[in-house]
Amino acid sequence: MNVILLGPPGVGKGTIAAKLAGHFNYPQISTGDMLREAVKSKTKLGMDAKSCMDKGMLVPDSVVIGIVEERLKKPDCRKGVFLDGFPRTIAQAEALAKIIRIDKVINLQADDSVIIERLSGRRTCRKCMAIYHLVNIPPKKQGVCDKCKGELYQRVDDKQETIKKRLDTYRKQTEPLIGYYRKKKILVDIDGSMDVEGVLSAALNVLE
Ligand code: AMP
Repeated sequence: MNVILLGPPGVGKGTIAAKLAGHFNYPQISTGDMLREAVKSKTKLGMDAKSCMDKGMLVPDSVVIGIVEERLKKPDCRKGVFLDGFPRTIAQAEALAKIIRIDKVINLQADDSVIIERLSGRRTCRKCMAIYHLVNIPPKKQGVCDKCKGELYQRVDDKQETIKKRLDTYRKQTEPLIGYYRKKKILVDIDGSMDVEGVLSAALNVLE
């Protein structure tokens, strides 16, 4: 079973994809995490992607499609995958369709006010990329990851100035995917403004 988590930035795709991946024992494939890893390791890919990411713009399709294609060739993807943050354009969706069959698209939705509150309070672990929120998902110890004791930080693109640009990018380039997958009759809408447990149980209902 190959599943896409679709929705605006900050709606909870990463949090829910990680939980679903754990539940089904499938890999979570997050292009955002892969790109941030490349930035951290200062690879050529990372250096090229960084300026787009910091500005809230998308990294070129050819770059992202290339890294996903490579990742999907690994043996752990044979049973199924949870794709989080990919595809983000129709061109990416069309390229993906040539690589694997998509069985379900979970479309998480929430108002801009919820998204802005979630993104501005979000904190990410530098080491294992786990996601927290200052109010909704606080770590046990302030600033420290519960899982690996890594340092929690605020992503550059989670700052107020970039959030608006990311939402614009989402509306223009990614939202058309809702219609694209709805037409294929594989898209299910879930209210992403519920708490983590609520969204997770709705997603499990759809998938099981
Ligand atoms: P995310 O962690 O999914 O919010 O992604 C962070 C940033 O990485 C985005 O704002 C984009 O700049 C870049 N990015 C992640 N996934 C993609 C994608 N599928 N296509 C293009 N850019 C992406």
